[in-house]
Amino acid sequence: MMNRRQILCAAAAGAATLVRVPTVGAATFDLVIKGGRVIDPSVGLDGIRDVAISGGRIVAVEANVMGDAADTIDARGKIVAPGLIDIHTHAGRGKDSPALALQDGVTGFVDAGSGGPDNIDEIAAVLRGAPQIGRALVNVAARTGFTGGELMDINRANVTLVRGAIARNRDVVVGVKARLSHDVAGTNDLEGLRRAQEAASSFDLPVMIHMGQSISPMRAILPLLKRGDIVTHMYAPPPNSILDDQGRLIPDVAAARRRGVLFDFGNGVSGHFNWNMVERAAAQGFWPDTLSTDWNAMSRTTGVVDFPNVMSKMLMFGMPLMQVIATATVNAARVFPAFDDRGTLNIGAPADVAIMELRDGNFEFVDNYQGKRAGRQRLFPIATVLNGKRAPARA
Ligand SMILES: [Zn+2]
Repeated sequence: MMNRRQILCAAAAGAATLVRVPTVGAATFDLVIKGGRVIDPSVGLDGIRDVAISGGRIVAVEANVMGDAADTIDARGKIVAPGLIDIHTHAGRGKDSPALALQDGVTGFVDAGSGGPDNIDEIAAVLRGAPQIGRALVNVAARTGFTGGELMDINRANVTLVRGAIARNRDVVVGVKARLSHDVAGTNDLEGLRRAQEAASSFDLPVMIHMGQSISPMRAILPLLKRGDIVTHMYAPPPNSILDDQGRLIPDVAAARRRGVLFDFGNGVSGHFNWNMVERAAAQGFWPDTLSTDWNAMSRTTGVVDFPNVMSKMLMFGMPLMQVIATATVNAARVFPAFDDRGTLNIGAPADVAIMELRDGNFEFVDNYQGKRAGRQRLFPIATVLNGKRAPARA
């Protein structure tokens, strides 16, 4: 049964579907996650609860679930959140990468541009074999055999070929990616983006741009973005950042957000963010809509480490825990229809769960310029449940 707080939260969130699914026969569950601090931003819930799972779905979120369970996870002292959705990774690059990301709590991801029209079929094959939902953004430019950036020669961005790549992989491709920094696109940033939009619009799909150090300024780039498009590496330092020379948020950026353009963190390794940018933008209330890692199989040895580590960086700057988890769950699910029923612990939802531990201590975090900051809290991945089943633990 829902308690009063849950009912109030559900009502506040307008979630009319938070109704317990009846279980057949005796109250026996496949899995109960016991006694954790359940944080589900989709309904504004933050409280100690049991989460009961049957048939791969959430069947109860209650203070004390009664009944036998075939399997139990003791989550006391841990955070129990919806499975994490990472909308900017490169988990499609390696056959074993999706399973690695799953160990970090990532139950859904988008490979953002590892594949262009020339190699998307290989990436798509990896994603089809992934244990969790893996989708891809096709790079507007062919990816193989280039020197410098893939958009330096604009002829590498062939709209017909991109459309063909999408048409061949409609089950996997959920958008188009264009990397616009000077070392990737040179003076072709705007034309590369126009071609990405042309290909995407044929299928009513979003475009994700990788911003930062582009030749064209944001005030020229942003008008080419439509509602639902995504700007990743939002805290990339100048030239051509989201801030002006005085460190103030550019009005065009605020206007783009108002009309539905989404801003994504995109941690990455080099050139994509520094602490000063995060601090200045956050001080003006400009937080990410979504957090993402720009992860690949090597990320555990870089400043990325894992998705919970990236989330911890926003905690350090004072983003509330509920909001941090929202950016990695329900907000991310809203970006792509493939994740429509994910990013939540609502009754009836697929049972994707990230169990994390929020530890207190002194933790060092690194930006893309070897800048170090000390934080007092860090989230660690503890266990992952995918479609109601425990995923193999991290080695
Ligand atoms: Zn990337």
